[in-house]
Amino acid sequence: IKRNPYESEFHQAVKEILDSLIPVFAKHPKYAEHGILERLVEPERMVSFRVPWVDDQGKVQVNRGFRVQFNSAIGPYKGGLRFHPSVNASIIKFLGFEQILKNSLTGQPIGGGKGGSDFDPKGKSDNEIMRFTQSFMTELSKYIGPDTDVPAGDIGVGAREIGYMFGQYKKIRGGYEAGVLTGKGIIYGGSLARTEATGYGCVYFANEMLNFKGLSFKDSTVVVSGSGNVSIYAIEKAHQLGAKVVACSDSNGYIYDPNGIDLDTVKRLKEVERKRIKEYVTEHPEAVYTEGCNGIWTIPCDIALPCATQNEIDEESAKTLVANGVKAISEGANMPSTLEAIDVFLNNNVLFGPAKAANAGGVAVSALEMAQNGMRLSWTFDEVDAKLHSIMQNIYENSVKAAEEYGYSGNLVVGANIAGFIRVADAMIAQGVV
Ligand code: NDP
Repeated sequence: IKRNPYESEFHQAVKEILDSLIPVFAKHPKYAEHGILERLVEPERMVSFRVPWVDDQGKVQVNRGFRVQFNSAIGPYKGGLRFHPSVNASIIKFLGFEQILKNSLTGQPIGGGKGGSDFDPKGKSDNEIMRFTQSFMTELSKYIGPDTDVPAGDIGVGAREIGYMFGQYKKIRGGYEAGVLTGKGIIYGGSLARTEATGYGCVYFANEMLNFKGLSFKDSTVVVSGSGNVSIYAIEKAHQLGAKVVACSDSNGYIYDPNGIDLDTVKRLKEVERKRIKEYVTEHPEAVYTEGCNGIWTIPCDIALPCATQNEIDEESAKTLVANGVKAISEGANMPSTLEAIDVFLNNNVLFGPAKAANAGGVAVSALEMAQNGMRLSWTFDEVDAKLHSIMQNIYENSVKAAEEYGYSGNLVVGANIAGFIRVADAMIAQGVV
């Protein structure tokens, strides 16, 4: 805390992981002897830079850009870019730190990184988005490459932003390095099923947890927060598995549709028209819109999929979910539950899929996109989806096994942290003190 003052989100992520690793350090003194902990929490490199751009009124605007290259023990740095006014060094470091173990859990050869800017894409014109992303990439391009660091999307960064950034990178480098970014459009090197991967993966993970207890999505009631990339495809897969998703949200409020959310409407509103979720009720009068986000957790449900942002479920919301009979939580967003909320779930026997396991499907398919780019070929949607499904099953099984081995049977928070950590730590030892 002294070394990284004012970085509360980073402290929170580190605390969750370090608490889980106590039994690993007790059993294997080699990790302490090689200074793994001290090295793991210190990024290999972090850059912060000025992003100047000109708005539609001709006024100069300045934002701050970041890239943290946290750990490259098992592969090139890999992690998304977030454009949101809340972005600061603490947010980027917590996301980058989580990404190290998440990427390791996928079994793919990818290290941990993350980046972004405090730029707010809301209300900006296409031209403003293009000018900003070009300026951002002009600086970022100095630090990334297909074999060094491969960014992707995150909050506020979708196919449009990736496209503009890819174009600018190509112009600066003067060559076609398809593997420098993932989440690209299908016509220029993107992977089928990447758009769906995080949401689908989150539901596949939840399904593994439920099946183990003899439960399933069929006929269950589901609440999904957010209405962005992860949420939309979590809703789609939950519907495909026979569940009824009754609520979703954005940063202004949430909608409740007792008949089940009409996903086509949500997709059009959010992906095409870029409107607010409250517009849903004008087309579906049976639905109710409520201002404010936290209230979404008061809706009774069997399964909750927090897919919006960090710390969106606090202790009180967790208690309400439990009182209303929730059976499973699968985290689509990064760190959506506070440490206190996680305790509430674990102490009440709620099946709990932590983010770094449950939302690893996106980065796993990003690694598959890199593989396809390297081979200059593309797999079909079904091929990628089948690989994603089997990766999510492996993550579940490896997390269960690691939790059992270290005496925390059924605790996937501990299991995922340990399973992800051991691969990275052993690679760091093998590579010496660097
Ligand atoms: P999007 O930008 O596509 O969507 C984010 C959604 O969350 C929007 O509906 C947004 O509403 C809402 N939201 C953002 N901030 C807040 C807030 N402070 N309070 C309430 N709602 C908010 O992002 P993604 O779907 O890509 O990302 C969502 C989460 O999933 C993030 O935590 C991200 O790190 C994580 N994630 C994403 C992956 C991916 O592949 N995209 C991979 C792994 C994790 P509004 O439109 O009003 O801002």
